[in-house]
Amino acid sequence: MAKVHHSEINGLWYILCPACKVTHAFGIGHGFNGNPENPTIEGSLGWTGESVDGVRYCHSQVNNGMITFVSDSQHGMAGQTVELPDFNA
Ligand SMILES: [Zn+2]
Repeated sequence: MAKVHHSEINGLWYILCPACKVTHAFGIGHGFNGNPENPTIEGSLGWTGESVDGVRYCHSQVNNGMITFVSDSQHGMAGQTVELPDFNA
């Protein structure tokens, strides 16, 4: 199952964030390894937006199908590493 989704509309890629329960986008400049089932994204993803718990900042790194939340993320999964969920678009 694919863990990323590619939008034909804007050309961006998306992951489903298990902490925010919403999608986070990344672009080709992030150095995606091109493997939808075991994605690695170079650099980190910073996201600020509306989640189920209100507006907050989410900071993550994706490596080999796992997502690690940097400790400055404003949610309870900061500092944790979990498997990236399948993306069901
Ligand atoms: Zn998030």
